[in-house]
Amino acid sequence: LFAGIQDAPLDPIMRLFEAFNADPSPKKLNLVVGVYTDADGKVPRLRAVQTAEKRWIEKGLPKTYRPIEGTKPFRDAVQELLFGKGAPILSQNRAATLQSIGGTGALKTGADVLAKLFPNATVAVSNPSWENHKALFTQAGFTVVDYPYFSAETGGADYPAMKAYLQDLPKGSIVVLHACCHNPTGADLSLDEWRDLVPLIAERGLIPFLDIAYQGFGNGLDADAEPVRLFAESGQEFLVASSFSKSFSLYGERVGALTIVAENPAAKAKVESFAKRLVRASYSNPHTHGAAIVEIVLTDPELRADWERELGEMRDRIRAMRERMADSLQQRHPERGFDAIKTQKGMFSYTGLSPAEATRLREEHEVYALETGRICVAAVNTHNIDHVIDAIDAVVKG
Ligand code: PLP
Repeated sequence: LFAGIQDAPLDPIMRLFEAFNADPSPKKLNLVVGVYTDADGKVPRLRAVQTAEKRWIEKGLPKTYRPIEGTKPFRDAVQELLFGKGAPILSQNRAATLQSIGGTGALKTGADVLAKLFPNATVAVSNPSWENHKALFTQAGFTVVDYPYFSAETGGADYPAMKAYLQDLPKGSIVVLHACCHNPTGADLSLDEWRDLVPLIAERGLIPFLDIAYQGFGNGLDADAEPVRLFAESGQEFLVASSFSKSFSLYGERVGALTIVAENPAAKAKVESFAKRLVRASYSNPHTHGAAIVEIVLTDPELRADWERELGEMRDRIRAMRERMADSLQQRHPERGFDAIKTQKGMFSYTGLSPAEATRLREEHEVYALETGRICVAAVNTHNIDHVIDAIDAVVKG
C-alpha cells in the first residue's frame, strides 16, 4: 500500500535540530528553533500561567467536551486582545472566533474554509516566510506564490516591491500577512506602510489572512495588533490566526484561535457554522486544558496584569540582546549592516550571514543557525551572547 511513497525531504530546521542533538560539544548553542528561553536558557513557566493552572486543577472540573468553537469567555478575550478593549467591531457582531490547535491549526482551518469557497484562488505568501505557510496552503489545495518582502540591503521590509506585486495580483487572491514580528526576518512594515496597504488590499479585492503568532513580542500587545485593527476599522472581510504558544510559553498545549471577520452579522453566522462543520469532521472539538489556562489569565484582572508584565520582561530581554549584538557587530564590521538586528522585531533576525558563513558558525563554533542566516534572538542570553558575537565576528573575518 505504502511502498511507492516518495521520501519527503527533511525540513532544514528538523535536520539541524537532529544534528544539534547528536553534537557532543558542551559549548553547542541552538539558535535554530523558535522557542523563547529566559536569561538562564530555560523555557519559562510564566507566573500567571502557573497560578491559573493551579486554580483550574483545584476546581476539579470534569473534562467533558468543549464547544467546537471554544468557550465564549475564551473567544471574547481573544477578540479583545486582537481588536482592543471597546473597539466598535466587538459590538458589531461580525467577527467569529474559533479556538484552534495552536496558530497552525487556525491557519489550517482558515485555509480549509477558503479552499471550499474559493478553490481556484492563488495564495501569496511573503518571500521569505515561515516555511509552513507554503506547505499548509499547498496541502489545502491552493497554488502558492511569493510576494517580494525582504531587502537584504537594508535588513528591513521592501514595501515598494511588495506593493507593486500585490497591485498586480488577480482579484480574489489570498494574501498571507505577518501582523508583527515577521518570521523569519524580524523585519516588519511600518504603521504608515500598513495604513497604505490596508485600503490597497480592499481596492484590489484581495482576501487578507493575517498571522499573529508573536503578539506582545514586538512593541507591545496593542501596538503589535495595530495592523489587525486597521483592517477591522476599514470594514473589510478578513481572517486572523492567533497563536498563544509563545506569548504564554505554552507551546505543547497547542492554544490558538481563528477569527473570521465578515461584512455583517448574517454573513458572520454563515461562515461560523461553515467553519464549525469543517472542524467537526476534522478533529471534532478543541482541547480543554491549555485554553482553560489562557482563558483564566486573560479574564482575571490580576493574573492578566502579571502576564502582561512578564510578557513585557521577555520583550525587553530580547530587545537588550538585540542591542548588544547589533552594537558590537556593527562596530566590528560596519559594512555588513548588522545594526538591522536592533530594528528587527520579535524572536528572529536575518543576520545577513551567507550559507557558507552559517555552516562555519556551526562547524567551527558550535553555534547552530539556519543557512538563510536566520537566528533565534530569543535563545541568546547574557551567558552565551559573547560566544555568539565572537563566533559571528570570526566567520565574517573569514
Ligand atoms: N505562524 C508563524 C509565523 C509562526 O512562526 C508559527 C510558529 O512558529 C506559527 C504560525 C504556529 O504557531 P503554533 O506553534 O501556535 O502552531
